[in-house]
Amino acid sequence: MGKPTGFLEYERQLPEDRPPEERINDWDEFHTHFDIEKLRIQGARCMDCGVPFCHAGMQIGRTSIGCPLNNLIPEWNDLVFRGDMDEAYKRLSLTANFPEFTGRVCPALCEGSCTLGMHDPAVTIKNIECHIIDTMFEQGKVKPRIPASSTEKRVAVVGSGPSGLACADMLNQMGHRVTVFERADRPGGLLMYGIPNMKLDKKIVERRIKLMSDEGVVFVTNTEIGRNYPAVKLVDEFDAVVLCTGASAPRRLRVDGAELKGVHYAVDFLSANTKSLLDSGLEDRKYINTEGKNVIVVGGGDTGTDCVGTAIRHGCKSVVQLEIMPEAPSERTASNPWPEWPRVKKTDYGQEEAEYVFGSDPREYLTTITRIESDERGCVSGVYTSKVSWETGAPVPVPGTEQRRDCDIVLVAMGFTGPEQELINQLTLETDARSNIKAKEGVHKTSMKGIFAAGDCRRGQSLVVWAIREGREAAAAVNEYLMK
Ligand SMILES: Cc1cc2nc3c(=O)[nH]c(=O)nc-3n(C[C@H](O)[C@H](O)[C@H](O)COP(=O)(O)OP(=O)(O)OC[C@H]3O[C@@H](n4cnc5c(N)ncnc54)[C@H](O)[C@@H]3O)c2cc1C
Ligand code: SF4
Repeated sequence: MGKPTGFLEYERQLPEDRPPEERINDWDEFHTHFDIEKLRIQGARCMDCGVPFCHAGMQIGRTSIGCPLNNLIPEWNDLVFRGDMDEAYKRLSLTANFPEFTGRVCPALCEGSCTLGMHDPAVTIKNIECHIIDTMFEQGKVKPRIPASSTEKRVAVVGSGPSGLACADMLNQMGHRVTVFERADRPGGLLMYGIPNMKLDKKIVERRIKLMSDEGVVFVTNTEIGRNYPAVKLVDEFDAVVLCTGASAPRRLRVDGAELKGVHYAVDFLSANTKSLLDSGLEDRKYINTEGKNVIVVGGGDTGTDCVGTAIRHGCKSVVQLEIMPEAPSERTASNPWPEWPRVKKTDYGQEEAEYVFGSDPREYLTTITRIESDERGCVSGVYTSKVSWETGAPVPVPGTEQRRDCDIVLVAMGFTGPEQELINQLTLETDARSNIKAKEGVHKTSMKGIFAAGDCRRGQSLVVWAIREGREAAAAVNEYLMK
């Protein structure tokens, strides 16, 4: 601990985001970095407390405590304060495969459990993490690590999201020959086609894929296992298979009019936008354009926020974000104590931008969509919404609150129910009660010998940081299976 009184002397500070009036005109990232002196001060706020909950990485019931990767946070905070970025990077790399992803998109479970957060705002851990890795890339210090020897064991990883990438990275470093199969035209899973460019620039994803390719991982894109590459062939050809296929079955909108033209699932909307952006700078028009349209986003979560930010960049006429749950409190409640993840109201980039463009937060709480109206061509022309009550424990529309709103495009961001089932059925794998692939946490073996599962397809819809942890754990399990 470099500065014992740092937490008393300095206040939490983050670099200013690019202002909404500037950033809505482009698709570039909106976060910026401090200069190193300001970053050192933030590192000095870490108390190096006796029991650093920030790196606990535990799931207790439905809540998380600390970093799932068990990142050695107090160590690199101290090293940053001392100005030793090289050593900070070495400590960070011990546990984190892709800090440039988590440093940008992680909700920072660590900060929710920071001991300083009991009395004062938490240490800016996520920002420090991002700064360390970005500095190392800028200085050319992140170099390919070519494994010294090969076991000649062949492992297939199906899916190239964060769990597949982490698993492939670990197995490759262990000396196995790893091939990652991806059905999309670019690797990265939701890091590539899901999370928008302004939150995670796709050049950063591509840079890591290139590094992994240079280290020996083989990426095979445009290949869907179970459709244009038989699943049984894959199992025969490889010594082990790890399924990292994500949880992409969307929760369906079950109201009259859900089949109309103009109703889209959020990931279809977001991924088409990114693909068109990367392929042609949106010149090919192969995306769902909301320019001049009235947009209703169904879902008040992060995916809904990404839809709001994207629609605003298109130049939509209006955007409303419906949230069926009540507004979260501004501070922790007694039933949500430290060091649990704080369930408090968050105003994210999409809402800030809507406030700038339309003058108000686009979220409407305790509100649901009840039906969608069609014009004579079968296109959306309006939606009906109602207030809901949770008095019975389930959402019930409140009589007399139905309201019609002009709408041209409905974006459904209601979450996911689990993994797609086709490949699971072909491989006759057992599933759990939530339709996820059955495999114990930390063990990752499925019901079929030699087949493992990790990430959202095993744990259900989650976070990038949990997917990376699962990929790391699955790699350890595969290594043990191959080398026993
Ligand atoms: C719009 C959106 C925004 C999000 N934003 C955040 C965020 O800001 N922060 C955060 O922490 N989390 C975020 N998440 C959640 C996070 O992206 C996921 O939890 C994480 O990506 C899961 O990783 P994964 O590797 O398990 O699966 P995925 O990232 O879903 O990757 C699975 C991959 O498998 C491929 N695949 C599936 N089946 C096959 C097959 N048969 N053959 C070949 N390939 C196949 C898919 O094409 C996909 O590329 C977001 C999710 C969405 C939808
Ligand atoms: S990965 Fe997430 S939880 Fe872990 S240290 Fe980084 S920001 Fe915190």
